[in-house]
Amino acid sequence: MRAHLPVAWITHPSCRRHQIADGHPESPQRLAAIEDRLLAAGLSGFMHPYEAPEASREQLQRVHTDAHIEHMLAHRDIGERRVEIDGDTAFTRHTVDAALRAAGAGVLGVDLVMTGEAGLAFCAVRPPGHHAERARAMGFCFFNNVAVAAAHALSKGLRHVAIFDFDLHYGNGTADIFRNDTRVLLLSSYQHPLYPHWTGAPEAINLVDVPLRAYTDGPAYRTAVAEAWLPALERTRPELILVSAGFDAHAADPLGDLRLRTEDYRWLGQFIRDVADATAGGRVVATLEGGYDLQALARSVEAFLTPFLGGELTPA
Ligand SMILES: [Zn+2]
Repeated sequence: MRAHLPVAWITHPSCRRHQIADGHPESPQRLAAIEDRLLAAGLSGFMHPYEAPEASREQLQRVHTDAHIEHMLAHRDIGERRVEIDGDTAFTRHTVDAALRAAGAGVLGVDLVMTGEAGLAFCAVRPPGHHAERARAMGFCFFNNVAVAAAHALSKGLRHVAIFDFDLHYGNGTADIFRNDTRVLLLSSYQHPLYPHWTGAPEAINLVDVPLRAYTDGPAYRTAVAEAWLPALERTRPELILVSAGFDAHAADPLGDLRLRTEDYRWLGQFIRDVADATAGGRVVATLEGGYDLQALARSVEAFLTPFLGGELTPA
């Protein structure tokens, strides 16, 4: 096995200020729970902290329309107003600041792994991004963070990247942005049927989907994704791995009915690390998506990180 490369931890205080509404599941407490858990587990000291920069207009334009970017930026200084996008998504005071940092985190992550300063860069950011389409914010998402990172990597001369999206929900935004772009292999697993009820995937050659019925458990999950993803990875040989790291497929999550356990996220971390070591020089950039049971989220992030840190899971 390769030696462990440094792990970068990228975040920004703005990501803990954004709040769609009181009691909304995509809450600032999510990042607090994760960071408290990693501190208690003794893992924080093994990661190198970085402050996320804001994504630049040029970086956003690679995956979003000018109209979408203008619409987002126009809501930067809205004071105490609340501007609804859909029933679950709204601009509030800190939204645009946080969204720019969340998108910029992935750009920094790509730069850190490309220069060899990190093996894994984990972007502990919110709002999440994978529902944000080229021209539309939706589903708690404003800019598509993982897509901005992938496009940044391609702009640096990489020819093939892979995105793992193991969030409970389908990453319709990432699929919208990269469908039929053969430079980007998008490997998705998700509960089906469920939000966002997207049906556009099957005809696109670079989207490898694993739709899962409600109550799918860890052993069935592992078999299904390995069978679907490994042949595609073998064909593509990605030079960089990106991850839409959502943890809402956990059995304890209130938004869905998949039945993954903490140890399944350790398995996913190891699976992704092995792929990265085999084809991508160990380079992985992961960005936080969903995960709404605070304790399950925090323990699952810890479990996902463990293979990259070379440690064992700490007892509960
Ligand atoms: Zn989700």
